This record gives sequence, C-alpha cells and structure tokens, in this order.
Amino acid sequence: MVSGVHNTPSGGWASWFDLRSRESLLSAFLLFAIVCVLLAAAAYFELASPRLLKIGCVNLIAALALGLFSGSTGVLSLGHVAFFGIGAYVSAWFTLIPAIKGMLLPDMPVFIQQSQWSLWFAVIPAIIAGLLAGVLTGFVMRRLRDTSAVIASFGFLVIFYLLFIGLKIFTNGKQSLYALPIDQLSWPLTMTAIATALLVTFAIRASALGRAAESLRDNEAAARSVGVDADRTFFWVWVASAALMAMAGALFAHSIGIASPSSFYLDKTFALIVMIIVGGYRSLTGCALGAVLITIVEELLKHAEESLGALAGQQVLGGLIEMPRVFGLTALCFSAIILLVLYLRPEGVIGYRELAQAGLIRRLFGRWLEPASKGEEQVIYSVPKESELSAQSLGKNYGYFSAMSDVSFEVGPGEIVGLIGPNGAGKSTFINVMTGNLFASSGAIFLNGENATQWSAHDLARRGMGRTFQNIRLFASLSTLDNVLTSVNVASPKLSRVDAEVLAMNWLRELNLDQHALEAGGSLAYGDQRRLEIARALALEPHFLLLDEPAAGMNDSETHQLQQLLKDIVQRIGCGVILIEHDMPMVMALCDRLVVLNKGEQIASGPVADVRKDPQVIEAYIGESP
Ligand code: ADP
Ligand code: MG
Repeated sequence: MVSGVHNTPSGGWASWFDLRSRESLLSAFLLFAIVCVLLAAAAYFELASPRLLKIGCVNLIAALALGLFSGSTGVLSLGHVAFFGIGAYVSAWFTLIPAIKGMLLPDMPVFIQQSQWSLWFAVIPAIIAGLLAGVLTGFVMRRLRDTSAVIASFGFLVIFYLLFIGLKIFTNGKQSLYALPIDQLSWPLTMTAIATALLVTFAIRASALGRAAESLRDNEAAARSVGVDADRTFFWVWVASAALMAMAGALFAHSIGIASPSSFYLDKTFALIVMIIVGGYRSLTGCALGAVLITIVEELLKHAEESLGALAGQQVLGGLIEMPRVFGLTALCFSAIILLVLYLRPEGVIGYRELAQAGLIRRLFGRWLEPASKGEEQVIYSVPKESELSAQSLGKNYGYFSAMSDVSFEVGPGEIVGLIGPNGAGKSTFINVMTGNLFASSGAIFLNGENATQWSAHDLARRGMGRTFQNIRLFASLSTLDNVLTSVNVASPKLSRVDAEVLAMNWLRELNLDQHALEAGGSLAYGDQRRLEIARALALEPHFLLLDEPAAGMNDSETHQLQQLLKDIVQRIGCGVILIEHDMPMVMALCDRLVVLNKGEQIASGPVADVRKDPQVIEAYIGESP
C-alpha cells in the first residue's frame, strides 16, 4: 500500500524515539535509579544481607520477565518458573567446579565436565536454552487464549518439574545441584542484568510487537481487523519472556547456591504471581514495585516465622495460650495479600500506567513527553482505480438457522454502497464474513481479483479491508494515539517510529481527535470512540472500508459532522465504502447505491431512487419508509 504523506524524512537514531520509546526509556532509567538508591540505602543502613539484596534483584528481573508476557497479553502464565529452572540448571552446568560436577553430574559430556566458566558467560547458554524451551512451548501457547492458555502454562510447569526430577543425568534429580559458586553473582553482574532486563522489557513493550500484543489483550477481534497476526504476536512475546526468565533463573541459582526441582515449582510460581498482581501486572513499573514489596514482606515473614517457631510450645499471656508451631505463615500471608489487593484494587497498585506516564513526571519532562507532530498535512493515500470488492452468493448458517443467504454485490473505488435492512436482517453478519471475522458457509469473496474467501481476518486487513464494529471495539486501555498506531505499524512497517507517529497524529487530526491523543481509547466520549474506530480503520490504508452503524448513538450534529467527514475522505482517498446505517437521511446523502437485506435475504439492490420505490422494501420497513 502506498502512503502519500511521509512528511518527516527523519532518519538516524532520532527517528527511534517516538513518544512510547521516550516514555519507556525514561521509565526504565528512573526505575533503575530507584533500585540503585534502594540497594545503596539498604546496604548503608545494613537493613539486609548482600545475599538477600541479590535475591531481591533476581525477583525483580523475574517479575519483569513474567510481566513482559502476562502484562502485554493479559494471560497470567503459571509456567514461567519452568524457564527459570532451565536457566538455573544450564548455567550451573558451566559454573560448577569440575570436581563437584564429576560427583553430581558424572554422566555429562566431557566438554561440560571440564568447563568452568564465569557466570557472565554461563548466562548465555542459559538464555539460549530458555529461548529454545520458549519456542517449543510457544507452538502450543500461540494457539491458546484466556483460561486455556493459563492451564496450558501450568501444564508446562508440571512437565518441566517432572523432567527436572527425572532427567538425573542433567539435574541430579531430587538430590539437587549444590555448591554453586555464589561468589560468581557479583554486583556488577547483578546490576548489568537488571539494566538489561529493564531495557529489553521496556523496548519490547514500546515496539510494534508490544503494541500489537496489547491490542490483542484489549480486543482480539479488533486487533485482527487491523491486521495483527494474533498467533505470531503471542508466540514472540512468549519466547522473549521465556528467554529473559531463564536469565533470571541463572542468577537465582547463583544467589542461593542450589538448583533443586522444588525451587522451581509451586512456591516460586505463587510468589511471582503475588508480586505482579500486587504491583499491577499490566505495567512493568507495577511488576517491579511488586517484586520489591513482596521480597521485603517475604523476608519479614520468614523472620516472624522463625521467632514464632522458637516460641512453639511455650506458654504466653500468663499461661493462657500455648503457642502453636507456625506452619506456612508466608503462604498464608501471601494469599491474604493477593485477596486483599484483588478486592480493593484489582488492577494492582500501579494499574496500567508506567512510571513516565505519571502526572508528576509528565509535568517535569513537559514537551519531551509529547507526541511528535509536524505540519498540518492532510493524510492521503491512493487507492488503485482498478480495486474491486465483490460478494458472490454469500451465505452464513448457524446450525440450521440461516443468518444470511445468497447475497451478491460489488463495490468499486470511491463508491459508497448502503447496506440497509431491519434489525436481525443479517447486515453485521455480512460484514463479519467479508472481513474474515466469520467464515462463509457458502459463496465467495473476491478482493482485487483474488479469491479471498478463505483468508484470515488479519490477511484481509493487510490486503485492503478496513472495518468498524457495530458494538464499538477499541483498544480501551491503549491511548487514542496507540489505537491508530497499531494500524500504522501494520500498514507501513518500514516507516521510522517518529514518522509513524506523525502519520497517526495526522489521522487523528483528520477525525478531530488530536486533542485526545494521550487519553485512553476507552475513556473517550461515545461519538469520539466511533470516530476513533474509523481513524484506526483508515490508518490501515484500506481499499475498502466497511462501516457497521457508525452513527449509532450519535446526536444530530455529530451525525452531520460524521457525514461530512466521510464524504470528504472518500472523495480524497477514493476508497470504496459499504455503509450499514439506520439513519436514513445520512444514507440518502452519502450512498450511490443501496442493497437491502431482510431476514438474511437480499431483497433489492440498485440506485437509491429505484430501491426506495421497491414494494418489497417498503413492506420490509412497514411504518418506516426508507
Ligand atoms: P443485523 O446486523 O442486520 O441487525 P445480524 O447480522 O447481527 O443482523 O444478525 C442476523 C441474524 O443472525 C439475527 O437473527 C441474529 O440473531 C443471528 N445471529 C447472529 N449471530 C449469531 C450467532 N453467533 N449464533 C446464532 N445466531 C446468530
Ligand atoms: Mg448489526
């Protein structure tokens, strides 16, 4: 698809820093600074041992890795600790001193037997192993969503736990690998790992991949309608987060000096889930905060458990109570914390936003945190004159019920065809079939001369079909700008980030939404949401635009404004439009031709003046003459 407006020929490194990149970089930097200050303070005031501080750092990295997947896809993974374990074992193969390896892992290949690497290098095979395990499990995960994805991830946890126990040659089974060189986990390595984890997770969240994953989380049907390949997106975010989790595992094993199957199972999983839920798993800032809080709470509880344990059997309160032996205080308190947070603040302490999106930081950094926007150029792309969309005898059955049958018509470039009919006539079904949201039961779809009947929704979107939904489907938690950028990323993947942002801002201006650029899509007023859906569909640079009741719920002046906008855009761009609308004055003013459906059947089609006089049409609309 050709885009006529790329008005910022900015190249080089500056073109990388669109608003989201700048926000992410700033958040990562500030979080790193905060962690450094906390660590320095804890060390200076001797609040915790260096070992404990390092465990806290590892928790932070693990929470970021888990948050990368769970936060951007919305699927809480219960399986990530498996990758943590893989990283731990694989790094231990290389760092254990050969004499101990000869004892614990006598059947390992000679090359590994004899190696004794620094942990700096041993994390590399750990990351690679995590990556491979991520790819392997990713083939299953990418097909699953919601609860089934959560359960599958739990399945992986169990499978890998059993493998850690069973594959004794590599893990020494339940006897564990011990005497890992804990001095290998130096402060420079720990801090480098935190910086890497922050940069990688924030960079992925700021990338087109991250934005696509978030769009899927908010609304999969809408994401597919703007060309997001759901399975692929899911897969790569999973793999990236698995690799990072393995890095965390490598460090973890060297913070405690042991790698044993039970360290990589339910307790660790639960602790990590508590961390990211408490902080707010949709935000990396939330995950980081949760990791810090829960590490502190966990340590306090451990102390409490020990002191209470010492009291066990003793009489307190003047002999009134005999102290029982405490058991599972940590798990109990974690459960209480998670229930309390879910009850009081289900989105977690931080919620959706990142550190750099906080009001104070925005004010401090002012213009640096505004979207790139240059000029007032109109957005124009050219739809080829020969483009053509046609439905041929299209039908859709639900069981024995026929929601739509034998619908045939064509749309050319620059043409607006009205699709009208009473409620339940099958109009939305038609659009859903045409855009790949539903598969046709019979008939065929042709797009620009190609048979597109079997194409998936994202393929159709990538090849020229834009749409809106009758019941608005925005990416509610993404900013208005990001809603449109999701499409721009798909339509023009080669565009630099800043140019993509400028283009998206131009689309927002086109639909009078630019002043809302940074507001969440879901927080806009109803009429604005409808226009945002249209902006998002247009930013895909479609040849054909299928609008399902775009004026529904709008007042008269909004409807009139929308009518003018549509007329103007279609004239300039020359895309073909199929317009479903109940507002008859709008239909009459905009449409060149009408197609009328009733009870799933096409009862009339042709120029507006002819269709209006058709007796069948008048009958279908008893009382509401079209
Ligand atoms: P319209 O958009 O013209 O109001 P729809 O296309 O939404 O109509 O619906 C056409 C018919 O198909 C309606 O009778 C509706 O109840 C039925 N229908 C829609 N979706 C389903 C479904 N998933 N299962 C069964 N029937 C459905
Ligand atoms: Mg409908």
